[in-house]
Amino acid sequence: MKIDIVTIFPGMVGAPLAEGIVGRAIGRGLVDLQVHDLRDYTTDRHRVVDDMPFGGGPGMVLKPEPLFRAVDEIRARRGQPDAIVLTSPDGRRFTHRDAERLSALGHVAILCGRYEGVDERVRLALATEALSIGDYVVSGGELPALVIVDAIARLVPGVVGDDESVARDTFARGLLDFPQYTRPAEFRGMRVPDVLLSGHHREIERWRRREALARTLERRPDLLEQLQLDDDDKALLQELRRERERSGASGEGRA
Ligand code: SAH
Repeated sequence: MKIDIVTIFPGMVGAPLAEGIVGRAIGRGLVDLQVHDLRDYTTDRHRVVDDMPFGGGPGMVLKPEPLFRAVDEIRARRGQPDAIVLTSPDGRRFTHRDAERLSALGHVAILCGRYEGVDERVRLALATEALSIGDYVVSGGELPALVIVDAIARLVPGVVGDDESVARDTFARGLLDFPQYTRPAEFRGMRVPDVLLSGHHREIERWRRREALARTLERRPDLLEQLQLDDDDKALLQELRRERERSGASGEGRA
């Protein structure tokens, strides 16, 4: 898939994406990433990308012309993107479902804001959607773009070697992931649950399913409301709820 990122700090996104799983995906040609320096799309000698806000107030605003020109250039050289994402703290909250949706597209462009934000006409007439990575403000769209690209790229078929591990991740199934352990079996007095050492695959699967449900019930009960559970899961969940009532759990509990 093709991904284009438009930013005033190309080095801030290029280097991290050259490492790890995304770096490998790029190396193997599964992800075709291009990072564009917004200043290359200015026409003045000083390569100015920002200006004062109309109506006054502090800070600067990214001008519309370089962003529109950058996307025109991407269209001409790389084709029309299927989605043009504006990173914005007032956008819709980015979730795993968005990552799945975007990873199924052939071409996604991401625009990184800076300063006080971006001229509204970019959102109105250029971006196809605005996404926020959470209810906090960071200084620019580069870190959000990295989060979005990483989450998308690992869902592109073939990028993560073992397809299973992506399908099993937290949120992929609508549940939090079960706890993982590795060697040693005992560490500073803490023993790995016996069932994991037992070699009984059916029991291990059941334990994992139960732990995933238990964690989700404890930490993210909101996720359970949106989930289609089969009869086994419903029975497990009922058992877990009864256990919680008996022990008087009320949301405190394990971290
Ligand atoms: N004044 C703006 C914040 C601008 S922060 C406001 O109060 O809404 C500068 C840029 O950083 C934004 O244009 C956006 O591209 C990016 N950004 C900051 N926080 C973000 C978040 N939570 N999600 C996505 N992008 C964010």
